[in-house]
Amino acid sequence: MGQFQSTEVCTTPACVQVAANLLGNLAPHWRDIDPCTNFDEMVCYGFNQRHDDTLNGLNMAAKPNYRLLREILTLPYEEAKKVKPPYTLSRRDNADEHNFEMLRQSYATCMDSDAIKKAGIKPLKDALNEFHKQWPVEVEFADELFDDADDKVGLQAVSIALAQLNIRTWAWRIDPTGDLGRSYRKADAVNPKIQRFWFLAPQTSIPLEELFGNAAAYSDNATVAKLEAKIAGALNATFPVSIDESAVNGIAKDIIAFEAAMADAVMATAQEVQSSGADKDPQETLKKSVVSFKDLEALTPVLGFDAMVKALVPQGHVPDAVRVEYPALWPLVEKIVKQQRKIVLQSWFFWRFIDAMGKYVESPELVAVEAGGKAASNNYEACINHVDSSLRWILGHFFVEASYSNLTRSTSTKLAVNIHEEMKVHVEKLSWMSEETKKRTIKKLDNMVLNIGYPEEEPNAASPDSLAAFYSGLNITNSFFENAAAGLHHQVVTDMRGLLKPSSQKEWETVHTLITNAAYEGEYNSILIPAGVSQLPMFHPDLPEWALYGGLGAVIGHEITHGLDSRGRAKNENGLQTNWWDKKTEEEFETREKCFEKQYSEFSVIGPDGKKYNGQGNVTLAESVSDAGGLAVAYDAWIKERKSMPNVWDQSLPGLEDFTHEQLFFIVYGNWWCNADSAAQKAKRVRSNGQHPLNQFRILGGAENSRGFREAFKCAKKEPRCEIF
Ligand SMILES: [Zn+2]
Repeated sequence: MGQFQSTEVCTTPACVQVAANLLGNLAPHWRDIDPCTNFDEMVCYGFNQRHDDTLNGLNMAAKPNYRLLREILTLPYEEAKKVKPPYTLSRRDNADEHNFEMLRQSYATCMDSDAIKKAGIKPLKDALNEFHKQWPVEVEFADELFDDADDKVGLQAVSIALAQLNIRTWAWRIDPTGDLGRSYRKADAVNPKIQRFWFLAPQTSIPLEELFGNAAAYSDNATVAKLEAKIAGALNATFPVSIDESAVNGIAKDIIAFEAAMADAVMATAQEVQSSGADKDPQETLKKSVVSFKDLEALTPVLGFDAMVKALVPQGHVPDAVRVEYPALWPLVEKIVKQQRKIVLQSWFFWRFIDAMGKYVESPELVAVEAGGKAASNNYEACINHVDSSLRWILGHFFVEASYSNLTRSTSTKLAVNIHEEMKVHVEKLSWMSEETKKRTIKKLDNMVLNIGYPEEEPNAASPDSLAAFYSGLNITNSFFENAAAGLHHQVVTDMRGLLKPSSQKEWETVHTLITNAAYEGEYNSILIPAGVSQLPMFHPDLPEWALYGGLGAVIGHEITHGLDSRGRAKNENGLQTNWWDKKTEEEFETREKCFEKQYSEFSVIGPDGKKYNGQGNVTLAESVSDAGGLAVAYDAWIKERKSMPNVWDQSLPGLEDFTHEQLFFIVYGNWWCNADSAAQKAKRVRSNGQHPLNQFRILGGAENSRGFREAFKCAKKEPRCEIF
């Protein structure tokens, strides 16, 4: 028992619910398991028994959020306002009925499967018809190559029309799921305070992220055959003018060759940037990515980036420069474009549109080739995601009203403030960091903004007036397809407004209110801790402090550490990519990183074939370092807080009295990462190049690298295996 441990047991409903969850996940034979070597088995054995494949602590936490929103979205306004999940403590009462009606209509239209079935594939075809009018390529001239003089205007018009619907051809787009936070704009590379219109690389059917992991993806015969059938099937079902099936099959083949050529150009350019010494002087490389607006026309005489920017930015606001990630890429792409048949380019635009919008129509032909076509599935989670993609902040507002009390928010804020302070204490004590680098690291931490729950500006998600103003340009009708298109267009319009003002550290870009995740934003030097992740069974203001710090606290610590990990430390206190560490400190840091790399490469899982699959310690480095740092500062912040706290916040939970509160802190941490993946899924995930270690490695790494853990469970070796912060 710890020195300060209270013997009281918390029996509020929230405490009992969390206790039941922890106990249910715990191995029934936990006394026979050595936590120092098999902590993952100890905390998650029950979880794996109880749950289906692919479920993990985080996506399970998302489920109750969806159910709560379903309840809210199917009630009249007055009733919806009364909805609360169990054990909510307090709630404001100031929402706006008009905002709510938009939500309700958007959701009801999505759930109206009869109307969607009746509309069929027609909305998609109608839209393609419009694109065909903008660039009327005749089928009888299907073999003609793209002709600059004849076709440039049409090509530019259609690519702009697609961009206005948030469909990417050349420019980046906003990720409608919000989870990745991609946007048409990005902070300027040289001065992150300035927002710039952003061109990354062309969209290809095999996404860029996958190509960077596997540059030869377009040479894989099976992948290509499947893709070809998909594109041909989708085009045959929707082509706006009469055309032979065999001609369409030829077009599909050529679309893939076109994309493969562009993919090769992207990979070659990215490689060139790497080998030209981007590592040595990142500033120089970044400077080259800022292209003045007047140079844009010369860079892309055919693709017309200048025209695209003009069409998308708020009226009258022509920027002095934009951000082009690989300026050397575009002359290559233009060359490839000019070698294509014009009907291939036009059909590629059609395909881009179908690929993005096929999920908003009902069509057996699209279903047959896995290109969408299942819109009328009456799936409430999909419909909540749909509402979320067009009315994100209003949906978040009603979720917050129902399930994120002021007390929850202030408790999360206190946690974040204490852990952030503790990180500064840790930095001061680091033996390997020079005094000069310490000063600047503290400055970076002082400059870090902690965003808790939901955004407070553009829009202020707590204010119905601010929300109504933000969404004033969006019209919700009783056509599902039109609502989807209008929502996508509105995303572009509001994103572009961001070009008019300096970057804000209060911007919510990569995650939003409802997301069961959290983020560190390198360019803004801020963390985002959404309301969605601050819910039972992970978080509740009734819970004892050890449960708060071991759960959400470790997540907050993890995000703060991201500001100083291998990626985060490459940016200074203002988000500028620059080398601000002295050589000696940098070497000391890298030596310690090697320990994590080795450790996470030694962790392994046994695949269904009986073979051992090891982790990729080099790929997961930033995440594993942040896990260890986050756990260390959250633990120490809790120990400090505990000394000044009345006993009532140090209670135990029913059924868990055999554990010390120090042990429970780590059991709660482990529960975030329980995961019921099958052996096959684990073997696949461990090789898939993701930046995050396998969940069970995160539990094992946490246990090996935490001094607090080693002491709490009386492990023979008390020193952490790897430690940086
Ligand atoms: Zn992370």
